[in-house]
Amino acid sequence: MLTAQGQAVVKGYAIGKAAVMSAAALEVPHYRITADDVDAECQRLLSAMMATRDELNHLVDHLPLDAPRELAPILTVHSLLLDDPMLTQQTCDIVRTRLYNAEWALTAQGQALVEQFTQIEDEYLRERAADVRQVIERVLRVLAGQPAMLPDFDHRSSDPLIVVARDISPADMLRLREANFAAFLTDLGGPTSHTAIVARSMNVPALVGLGGFRNLIRDGDVLIVDGFTGAVIVNPSEQVLSEYQERQHVYQREREELSSLHDAAALTLDGVMIRLEANIELPQEAEQALAAGADGIGLFRSEFLFLGRNDLPTEKEQYEAYSRVVRAMGGKVVTIRTLDIGADKVLDGESTVATNPALGLRAIRYCLDRPDIFLTQLRALLRASVHGQIRILIPMIASMSEVHATRQALELAAQELERDGVPYARNYQLGAMVEVPAMAIAIEPFVAELDFLSIGTNDLIQYVLAVDRGDTEVANLYDPMHPAVLRLIAHTINAAKRFGKPVAVCGEMAGDASLTRVLLGLGLTEFSMHPQQLLEVKREVRRSHSNALRDKVALALNRAERIDLLALAT
Ligand code: PEP
Ligand code: MG
Repeated sequence: MLTAQGQAVVKGYAIGKAAVMSAAALEVPHYRITADDVDAECQRLLSAMMATRDELNHLVDHLPLDAPRELAPILTVHSLLLDDPMLTQQTCDIVRTRLYNAEWALTAQGQALVEQFTQIEDEYLRERAADVRQVIERVLRVLAGQPAMLPDFDHRSSDPLIVVARDISPADMLRLREANFAAFLTDLGGPTSHTAIVARSMNVPALVGLGGFRNLIRDGDVLIVDGFTGAVIVNPSEQVLSEYQERQHVYQREREELSSLHDAAALTLDGVMIRLEANIELPQEAEQALAAGADGIGLFRSEFLFLGRNDLPTEKEQYEAYSRVVRAMGGKVVTIRTLDIGADKVLDGESTVATNPALGLRAIRYCLDRPDIFLTQLRALLRASVHGQIRILIPMIASMSEVHATRQALELAAQELERDGVPYARNYQLGAMVEVPAMAIAIEPFVAELDFLSIGTNDLIQYVLAVDRGDTEVANLYDPMHPAVLRLIAHTINAAKRFGKPVAVCGEMAGDASLTRVLLGLGLTEFSMHPQQLLEVKREVRRSHSNALRDKVALALNRAERIDLLALAT
């Protein structure tokens, strides 16, 4: 039983028979031509390139309606490569100067180009070497008069096929769709390779970067693909096979069960209704939130409108972005966080001089330091409030003076809009992220003053434990279950409940289904997470008994003991 390890790029399990794709580049004839034959050989090469280009253009024009939308642009890039002199002209030059046959010259030039690409620092561009390789593969097949690269699939076969290839071009992906295939395995490629991109959009398990795996496999070998760990097992024993059949079965059932929860209520076994909201980074993700059945937007990280550009988004641009989300959510809660710049998120053209940017001029501190930027955003938020109620969320609040300064800035923004005769509304609610320990410890005046709270556990954990959330060297110390962290969350939730104010958790903890019971036990009733995590958390909520969890968690918290997750699960 042989096993190999690749990089899993699409989750899931697959069990099927190997269908090994040949690589034309590996079986290329090498011979020298005479000087008299140079023109004819160049002509043969260019005709093959043109035929390949026509074939690709034909594919683009006749894409099936359900083809992945990434395919057309990728095929077009491949077709354009065949017009590029670096491929046409320079390969002919090799034929002319070195008297190589067309195939040899093409692989030599291909190799040189691929080497140039692999030296590029940018990962995305580096992986474009795969496009060059795939185009050359295609031309070589045309030169050899054997356009089919795939083995002869039996389309009626009931055994799922697992495609094993050195690399798969997007054009070949189209043909693969017709066969009953269950997974992709490639020797080359990384997470941003086109194979990975297309596999993701087709939602079949895929592993890339398997090294020389293709050479070890024969057509018809039985393969197990583990799209969680990146493992592939060849010709497994009966026992391993049945173990994976069981895993596959359980996973399929889980997925079906999860999608059936879309319209189900997020109600605990003892009847506590839980709000499940979505975190988004861009306005268009509101649609994803709705599709996942979110009760609203619990966190719109507005800084993503500011990142990756040389200028600042205008008031109009921001107004349109915020309005789009408010309209899309059709009356559901929309929580928009003001600019959280600084620390790991830095505007283009600005550099930080802070020795410790996570403790520096970040978030509300930055905004109060740059009233021009802050007022533009607040004006846009007040204007968007005309289309529905917005919850304005302030990040990194540590002291009441920052809350008061924010209120004053909002007042000033309203006065300016009034003066300019621009429609706006004051129906917003004002809340703050609880992510600086000082606020969580001395929470009462904040709760009294604000309309709602949202606990940012990502930062709260880093500041409570003095562990940089982005530093892999101390990642083992970043512990959401630390009793000090849980006590601060409990303290915040209790204070909010006493004052009758809503409180949510919007850090990664809220979307981690293995921690749902802990948060329910802390009394949390509002969770905000990435839309993809929502159904899994909902399932956990529906399996939990809120009151029983509260008793268990309270007991552990009083003693400042670590909570045993296994004990909560029973
Ligand atoms: C957090 O800190 O938990 C949070 C939700 O915000 P961000 O991850 O953007 O800092
Ligand atoms: Mg934060």
